[in-house]
Amino acid sequence: VSRFEGITMAPPDPILGVSEAFKADNHELKLNLGVGAYRTEELQPYVLNVVKKADQLLLEKGENREYLPIEGLAAFNKVTAELLLGADNPVIKQQKVATVQGLSGTGSLRLAAALIERYFPGAKVLISSPTWGNHKNIFNDARVPWSEYRYYDPKTVGLDFEGMISDIKAAPEGSFILLHGCAHNPTGIDPTPEQWEKIADVIQEKNHIPFFDIAYQGFASGSLDADASSVRMFVARGMEVVAAQSYSKNLGLYAERIGAINVVCSSPDAAARVKSQLKRIARPMYSNPPVHGARIVANVVGDPTLFKEWNEEMEMMAGRIKNVRQKLYDSLSSKDKSGKDWSFVLKQIGMFSFTGLNKAQCDNMTNKWHVYMTKDGRISLAGLSLAKCEYLADAIIDSYH
Ligand code: PMP
Repeated sequence: VSRFEGITMAPPDPILGVSEAFKADNHELKLNLGVGAYRTEELQPYVLNVVKKADQLLLEKGENREYLPIEGLAAFNKVTAELLLGADNPVIKQQKVATVQGLSGTGSLRLAAALIERYFPGAKVLISSPTWGNHKNIFNDARVPWSEYRYYDPKTVGLDFEGMISDIKAAPEGSFILLHGCAHNPTGIDPTPEQWEKIADVIQEKNHIPFFDIAYQGFASGSLDADASSVRMFVARGMEVVAAQSYSKNLGLYAERIGAINVVCSSPDAAARVKSQLKRIARPMYSNPPVHGARIVANVVGDPTLFKEWNEEMEMMAGRIKNVRQKLYDSLSSKDKSGKDWSFVLKQIGMFSFTGLNKAQCDNMTNKWHVYMTKDGRISLAGLSLAKCEYLADAIIDSYH
């Protein structure tokens, strides 16, 4: 008998499990709209040209494979903070930013969660309802208490702004407020610039700490700067800000696990201390981060020609998703005779669309139409092609009614 008899079978992951189910389906019209990974119009994975070029450069340079320091590649940490905050942001010059390379967005969030658990005992993290499914796992595993603030309003398929503000107001003073920097996952609904200002007002009033998860910089609008404006606005107010970054989507480095945790502090002294503790947390967890993807980012961002090309490729990717969004809306509006208003599809931004389909309707999407998606009604438009929009519209309309 096994010594591991007491270990029960874990359920499949609600997001990554969708891909497993998709693989097992042999239907020719099957569509995987589960995981948020960019696909070409032919629905194939895409390696960015700038990444191929940077790879070639690295090969020619023949760099060694020695360990990185615990905090990661210095050249990466420099450019990642600049990309987030703007290269000429005073907080960078004043050395008020603690930046540590993490294991992509997830690992960077996990480092911040460990920092909160250790140095803010009892402090709560407020997460949006709904949010990316892994947020709850991350804070649970780090033993950080969390609760939800209202975000999505099913009546309007839009933002419940009043609910959001009043829940942030009602949170215990000094809570961490987790915010999606842009392209909110799963809803695709972002606050307007005016709403962001009001959110910053209440966070400041209540002495909360804004904690940004920015996994789609460049993917909401196609512009790296525009997509970081929420984070930069908080920093410009002189607030201390935590921000986790990911290069999975915007550089397509999914499996390289490249990202960073940034803590903008009110003094260089505090930043140095925070950084030292982040390193202390990372060391026994995974010792040091991967080098290859960090070199790719450092080379792409550090080289003006490659950087320009990256921006163009990102505009192309964001543009393809916008075209698919438009075509899906057109197909839904022309096919659906019920008079339902589908304009919410166009108002949402980023990789995802939140359809408003409930669990039973999502089951119909998968069981009858072979459309794989998460059970919260989210579809990844990055996994959809123009050619498949009509088919998807038929599936959605059939599932709704
Ligand atoms: N945050 C959000 C909101 C995400 O959607 C994702 C990716 N699905 C991540 C963080 C982190 O992804 P990764 O660990 O691949 O960077």
